Amino acid sequence: GEPEGILWRAEEHDYSPESENSARINATLLSLVRNQELTELVTTMKDLERTWNHKFNYPWTFLNDEPFTPEFKKRTQEVTKAKCYYEQVPKDHWEAPEWIDDELVKESNKILEENNIQYSDKPSYHKMCRWNSGMFYKHPALANTRYYWRVEPNVQFFCNVDYDVFRYMQDYNKTYGFTINLFDAPESLPTLWPETERFLAEHPEYISENNMMEWLVDDKLRPEHNKKANGYSTCHFWSNFEIGDMNFFRSEAYEAYFNHLDRAGGFFYERWGDAPVHSIALGLFEDASKVHWFRDIGYRHIPYFNCPNSPKCSGCTPGKFYEGASFLAKEDCRPNYFK
Ligand code: GDP
Ligand code: MN
Repeated sequence: GEPEGILWRAEEHDYSPESENSARINATLLSLVRNQELTELVTTMKDLERTWNHKFNYPWTFLNDEPFTPEFKKRTQEVTKAKCYYEQVPKDHWEAPEWIDDELVKESNKILEENNIQYSDKPSYHKMCRWNSGMFYKHPALANTRYYWRVEPNVQFFCNVDYDVFRYMQDYNKTYGFTINLFDAPESLPTLWPETERFLAEHPEYISENNMMEWLVDDKLRPEHNKKANGYSTCHFWSNFEIGDMNFFRSEAYEAYFNHLDRAGGFFYERWGDAPVHSIALGLFEDASKVHWFRDIGYRHIPYFNCPNSPKCSGCTPGKFYEGASFLAKEDCRPNYFK
């Protein structure tokens, strides 16, 4: 069920869309999206508006490396009473840094392709992963915003959620909320953990006392992953869904960590995802009690689900984790996390 304690309900507070003194906290729904994903985005927006945001009217912020079309703006604003903001990503946030060597990128991406790493040959995908790792919270339009809920086109939401989840994050001192916890393809990040260890050797002061190191290095369930990823279990919060406090990413520790990784070049020479990068940082620098599993938010991003057993949910099978080939079942990393 939902978290315990005092929760803010829409009926008891002012959440009207236009209100200057609303009960909303400083937060936005946030979506990096392409113009051509409009149809899938609108479907997703309708889901989240129906199950949650039509009561709370948190603003939407859309980001894109290209300008949004008038049609995009019109059709997204049509499905919400909340304010919508449309922002372009600055070029210097999106493009590969100057120290990245194009020849080396080509060479190393061949190895990724041989290992069947999805999207490894798409420069835009590497840029997107880097941007989601170290840039999104630096966008000038978000300078005065603290909490975000990341939303991708083509994801689904299944359960009615009756409380202000952003206020929950704030009141209960949470930094990060997730729904799905997975193993990653080790071939996409062979040097991410070695680089992380190098960083930690230089900056042991950033390690949290109550950290989640055991989750990051646990090798009981899939030892081959730890071997191929040079010590990292590859377990991560699946970041297509995240509800987070941008102050964490804006911290000195995270900034130093991201800069170290960016210099090392693995966003381009390998295919480091923003999910493992966020997860490792949270696991090392944050207190474990500040990460929250939103078990009550029914969610799907193909091919995985978070589907609670609750009368508030419809459209997914309670407890179902994956859809498709049965090997997907072993990608669930929740057992390690809850240990
Ligand atoms: P996957 O979930 O790893 O298969 O990757 P997606 O294709 O879903 O991309 C992740 C998110 O980034 C989605 O919200 C996409 O809409 C967005 N995205 C990916 N590449 C680009 C890009 O080149 N430009 C823009 N504007 N958005 C992108
Ligand atoms: Mn996706």
